[in-house]
Amino acid sequence: MAELKLSESKDLTRIERIGAHSHIRGLGLDSTLEPRLVSEGLVGQLPGRKAAGVILQMIKDGKIAGRGVLIAGQPGTGKTAIAMGLAKSLGHETPFAMLSGSEIFSLEMSKTEALMQAFRRAIGVRIKEEAEVIEGEVVEVQFDRPSASGVASKTGKLTLKTTDMETVYDLGTKMIEAITKEKVQSGDVIAIDKASGKITKLGRSFSRSRDYDAMGPHTKFVHCPDGELQKRKEVVHCVSLHEIDVINSRTQGFLALFTGDTGEIRAEVREQIDTKVAEWREEGKAEIVPGVLFIDEVHMLDVECFSFLNRALENEMAPILVVATNRGHTRIRGTNYKSPHGMPIDLLDRLLIICTQPYTEEEIRKILDIRCEEEDVEMAEDAKALLTKIAAETSLRYSINLINSSALACQKRKGKAVEMEDVSRVYQLFLDVKRSTQYLMEYQNQYMFNEVPGGEVNED
Ligand code: ATP
Repeated sequence: MAELKLSESKDLTRIERIGAHSHIRGLGLDSTLEPRLVSEGLVGQLPGRKAAGVILQMIKDGKIAGRGVLIAGQPGTGKTAIAMGLAKSLGHETPFAMLSGSEIFSLEMSKTEALMQAFRRAIGVRIKEEAEVIEGEVVEVQFDRPSASGVASKTGKLTLKTTDMETVYDLGTKMIEAITKEKVQSGDVIAIDKASGKITKLGRSFSRSRDYDAMGPHTKFVHCPDGELQKRKEVVHCVSLHEIDVINSRTQGFLALFTGDTGEIRAEVREQIDTKVAEWREEGKAEIVPGVLFIDEVHMLDVECFSFLNRALENEMAPILVVATNRGHTRIRGTNYKSPHGMPIDLLDRLLIICTQPYTEEEIRKILDIRCEEEDVEMAEDAKALLTKIAAETSLRYSINLINSSALACQKRKGKAVEMEDVSRVYQLFLDVKRSTQYLMEYQNQYMFNEVPGGEVNED
């Protein structure tokens, strides 16, 4: 049996993977929403990025629901990149759900159910809860083993006089840290967040007779510097409507969120949840945060899905729908009709359309620079120039793919930086679409199934 070479095994958990769009950190706009030439990982494509910035503002204002945007353009012109930039600029509170058109064709659920789930993943609910904050005057802080072996090993008690009683707290590590940090002593007025154990020192200017009396038995108010009593704080949870659906629809509850095994969700469950959320909104306990649903390769949807989208956009809770396609005039799936981008005209008519343009050589060069940095590849200037030329003649994607493989070629010859020879080596090793097609044409008759006479094949 071959001997196992343990020294050669690699610790896979430590490999960080770099995705196609991991260099994109936002839309790269300035404060007036003007796109910078190169910023936040995005290069050029200025009109598209500016338009995406306007949409970003619309989403942030949160006033408009159910708008749709189509990003159309040739392959590799940054449609997905712009959508990713938009997602990154939204901030983590605004939901962003993403799927590719083909993902809705599943054996486990109907196409419209898959779309409905995607829609509800893109609708956030911000639920507000008042935090329970206890406050009062510190009577005594007592550590069992003062300062001896560092904060972590200390225990102790804190006696706090609140409105109508004296409370004694056993001190947990978090509270000890907070007490030490805030230098809390007897006589101080403090507020303790019961959930997190966070302590805030409110100063000694607190007037017991004036402020405690005004507070009554509820200790959710604090004394602010201007002498007013104010509600102290709210805890805000942000969840998506889909998460609420899943938790309420299956016996395994929220675990289904991790396994992804959500199955179909019954319409009654969704109705109940919508009614509950509407109640919370009335009571001021919850707000709807319409996010973004991004559907890439939208031409893969069929006519039923398009009609679903048409209707779903009319819902007042609908997210902003961003769809992308690289198709021109083509057949709408599920019909024999042709239409621009393979989408029905009535849906197209609702969408704001952004067109992406092919890149200039200079822009390609800048994108390749960014990708080399992202992939941690050192590359000589002339090798980059060659890669740029290859991108202009083949495609941006193809030359981005060559970065990593030419770095491997460089590594193999124990070089420090990728040189032209490495790039040309992998260029010969891996074919681009044009050369592969050329090869096919030359050897067509040696392949199987070459008898299909170039006619249309119905995929449905
Ligand atoms: P397709 O129609 O084939 O889906 P696409 O228009 O969605 O293509 P992307 O996937 O966005 O193209 O772009 C291809 C690659 O080039 C990605 O790695 C993307 O991050 C990068 N890229 C494209 N445009 C830009 C840009 N303006 N700035 C930085 N990187 C870009």
